[in-house]
Amino acid sequence: MEKPKCPKCGTDEFIVLIKTGEQIGTTVGGIAGGVTAGVAAVESKVGEEASELISEFVSSFSNETIGKVTGMVGIFIAGATTGAIAGKQLGKTIDESRSLYKCNKCGEKFYG
Ligand SMILES: [Zn+2]
Repeated sequence: MEKPKCPKCGTDEFIVLIKTGEQIGTTVGGIAGGVTAGVAAVESKVGEEASELISEFVSSFSNETIGKVTGMVGIFIAGATTGAIAGKQLGKTIDESRSLYKCNKCGEKFYG
């Protein structure tokens, strides 16, 4: 992808594509994915069993409550990772379509 020239400096040497959407997408996607997976785990039998399976493993060297929490955290992290990947991909698409650039020399922001 060809970089546009800075309207102030007239050069493309310091131009970078601003990836705000990708960063926001990763964060939002991560939270949404984690919450979705957590809720799904609570509501579904599969999630419950997975949580109990992990909790049994953990409680073999700690107590059951900590084990269940650890199990849920594990499911949350798994969901958050999936959500973050999807969110990052969506954000990247937004970034590329809107093409907001920044000049690192003069700080000018402009659309390419
Ligand atoms: Zn500039």
